[in-house]
Amino acid sequence: MSYKTYHDLGEECGIFGITNNAEASNYAYLGLHGLQHRGQESCGIVTAGSDGLRKAVGKGKVGDFFTEENLKPLTGTAAIGHVRYSTTGGSNIVNAQPLVMISHRGSLAVGLNGNLVNAKPLREKLEAEGSIFHTTTDSEIIIHLMARSREKNTVMAFIEAIRQIEGAYCYMLLTEKELIAVRDPHGIRPLSIGKLGDSHVIASETSAFDIIAAEHVRDVAAGEVISIDLTTNELRSDFPFKETHEHMCLFEYVYFAKPSSDILGKSVHSIRYKSGITLAKEYPAKADLVIPVPDSGVSAALGFSDASGIPFTMGLVRSHYVGRTFIEPSQSIRGLGVRLKFAPIRKLLDGKRIVLIEDSIVRGTTSLRIIKMLRSAGVKEVHMRIASPMVKFPCFYGIDFGTYEELIANKKSVSEIAEMINADSLGFISLPGLREASGFAANELCDACFSGRYPVAVEESHSKLAFEV
Ligand code: SF4
Repeated sequence: MSYKTYHDLGEECGIFGITNNAEASNYAYLGLHGLQHRGQESCGIVTAGSDGLRKAVGKGKVGDFFTEENLKPLTGTAAIGHVRYSTTGGSNIVNAQPLVMISHRGSLAVGLNGNLVNAKPLREKLEAEGSIFHTTTDSEIIIHLMARSREKNTVMAFIEAIRQIEGAYCYMLLTEKELIAVRDPHGIRPLSIGKLGDSHVIASETSAFDIIAAEHVRDVAAGEVISIDLTTNELRSDFPFKETHEHMCLFEYVYFAKPSSDILGKSVHSIRYKSGITLAKEYPAKADLVIPVPDSGVSAALGFSDASGIPFTMGLVRSHYVGRTFIEPSQSIRGLGVRLKFAPIRKLLDGKRIVLIEDSIVRGTTSLRIIKMLRSAGVKEVHMRIASPMVKFPCFYGIDFGTYEELIANKKSVSEIAEMINADSLGFISLPGLREASGFAANELCDACFSGRYPVAVEESHSKLAFEV
């Protein structure tokens, strides 16, 4: 297997865990619904109880895969769950998580959100020393590293393992005795702790707590290892890394997270709303209506509308029943896919000049298709405003743009992109403007895809323009 194929299995995922609950699998099922936006390719739940670990993983969305029948055998009182989206090769069910493996430590289930930047050398070393990998995901590396550890205590073996990995990650593990979770020492991916009665809950986003009516207690700190003893339900916190720093992924706030979530004490919706206000100041437009590209453009469009006084309306309706990818039937009708996802409301749009608010432009193909569709619905002028700066650099930390070649902003100027997508004008929020809207200082964020400043060094072949912050 080539490194390219392997590395491309970056994981934009959601993880969830719960302890001390007779309905652990049902709560995990609901919690995963609250994280479904983080991955629709596969899902899974593993429970731990008196009869060991029990697992159900499969392809597709949570609501499609799980049934009363496959949830019923998941009888344990602790559970971890996972929703997954990978960039390529993802249809392989073998990569669905949580993975469950058996070693001299007993059964172990693991789920990952993120990407390891030193996965390739680690995996090669482990394979050279005799490890046989069953999957192509970075999740499995931690299991092999733990299996080799001489530490008797599972939490200590886990800590020894995570000291050998580098990247942007949150891991969640379940054994028959404990639930363990970690947020990487660079603090790039989000992870929060909640409480539901006497149960501890941990999730990638607080939207998972909302759905089960759990209380959000706090966020897991950068480099913090949480371990919960399944017998006593005692929660312990360890900080095994010498240096830690918060560099929350700015793209979580721009696009990836659910607007209802709070990450590191900041409302995702509020940051998007403020970015819309800033965008209206930086790139005003003369127009009749502000229209968001739903759903992730809605909050910024509200901010733009309030700041500019141009009325907001939902000129595009989004279908929520279409997956992230679909098979286009033939060359001759290629491009119609966007109509499966968005429907323009002609009676609102006909003859109007619109400000179209989008969260980001990565490859440019979707924007081109949306504008074409809007023009065919009678729109007179399209002034496109983007609530994130130009994405000029790849993400090596688990978000779905891993190469320079696929980024339109890496190849073209703003005016060239405007021409390519057929917009009458185009404006991207500035990076200082977005940082200010986020309320974070520059050194508290990862904004590498906008700035090229990578908080975790990446392989040289990937990082000609990168430097550590
Ligand atoms: S490079 Fe961009 S998408 Fe990737 S973690 Fe950093 S901010 Fe997020």
